[in-house]
Amino acid sequence: MSLSELQRLEAAHVIGTYARLPVEIVRGEGPWVWDDGGTRYLDLLCGISVTNLGHCHPAVVEAIRDQAGRLMHVSNLFYTEPAMRLAERLSTSSLGGKVFFCNSGAEANEAAIKLARRAKAGGDVISATGGFHGRTLGALSATAQESKQAPFAPLVPGFRAVAPTADAITAAVGANTAALLVELIQGESGVHETPPDALAAAREACDRHGAALIFDEVQTGMGRTGALWAYTETGVVPDAMTVAKALGGGLPIGALITGERFEDVLQPGDHGSTFAGGPVVAAAALAALEITDDPELLARVRDLGERLRAGLEELPGVVNVRGRGLMVGFDLEHGSASALVLRALAEQHLVMNATGPATIRLLPALTIDETIVDDALARIGRLLH
Ligand SMILES: *Cc1c(COP(=O)(O)O)cnc(C)c1O
Repeated sequence: MSLSELQRLEAAHVIGTYARLPVEIVRGEGPWVWDDGGTRYLDLLCGISVTNLGHCHPAVVEAIRDQAGRLMHVSNLFYTEPAMRLAERLSTSSLGGKVFFCNSGAEANEAAIKLARRAKAGGDVISATGGFHGRTLGALSATAQESKQAPFAPLVPGFRAVAPTADAITAAVGANTAALLVELIQGESGVHETPPDALAAAREACDRHGAALIFDEVQTGMGRTGALWAYTETGVVPDAMTVAKALGGGLPIGALITGERFEDVLQPGDHGSTFAGGPVVAAAALAALEITDDPELLARVRDLGERLRAGLEELPGVVNVRGRGLMVGFDLEHGSASALVLRALAEQHLVMNATGPATIRLLPALTIDETIVDDALARIGRLLH
């Protein structure tokens, strides 16, 4: 089917919530994707940090094939080994409490919000301005961005947003605070790190008032920043965290992981999801975790991130290069980021992402090497010269 035919079908039959790029992708392997005409593109976005191990990683594909041929779904009315093993692995690699499975990042945050409200009835949820936690009504209520929230008012009561600074957080958290929900690095708003002193203040304020400190690691998790979980490099341990995006190696899964303090707050019947933690996606996630939880791979992510940022610093018109590991953002001194993304695709066969009028975000596969980083820099360089 030609692109114009796909566009006709979309216009006629698909609710228009997405601004798609004018390319049909038909295949992916490692850091590469191919369009229907056979053109190969270097993918620096990974389906928005989902295919962190590159497209169609053989071990993930094998795990999916194997499990799909034996059992695809039975619901949470039964036990399956992949789900229980995945819960164990998630818990022991992070906060040591218990896990609730769901199907996306927004759902993981919904579960976190319900957990916090269950622990402190009627309590408020505080989030950071500029943050992003998903599009469902609860997660949207925590997503303090006027343009995303305003059309859907009234939102869920009991939510408020504060600047991600130590002073603002200390002033906001009080006796009626159920949860403080924050990203360690705000991704959708352009790769902005929450300052270490704000995280320390958050921990202190939540301890003082018995509130749950919840980190949204939907984007920063699964090795993206050069640690399996980004919080381990902040010196601050949350009471719970949410993960999704890359967890399933390309398949949809989300999880709420608690520490011990909140592990038994949710009770039978309090929450649930038909598909959650199904055997195929759990097997895929176990395979993805096995590969990602590797000190050598994570060290390489940190090194390649440094190399990418250093290279970007050298390019004309590039300012405010930032990020951690292979979660990278920068601003353009001139011109529009979305125009550059279109030119990158057409002229350099390069997939990048614009998160703001002048902001570009790069989320390449964690499995790339120096050659790919240099190739990416050369392509971006040719766009800017
Ligand atoms: C993408 C993202 C979400 C939402 O995840 P979905 O799977 O799209 O619902 C939530 N939080 C953060 C930090 C994200 O980057």
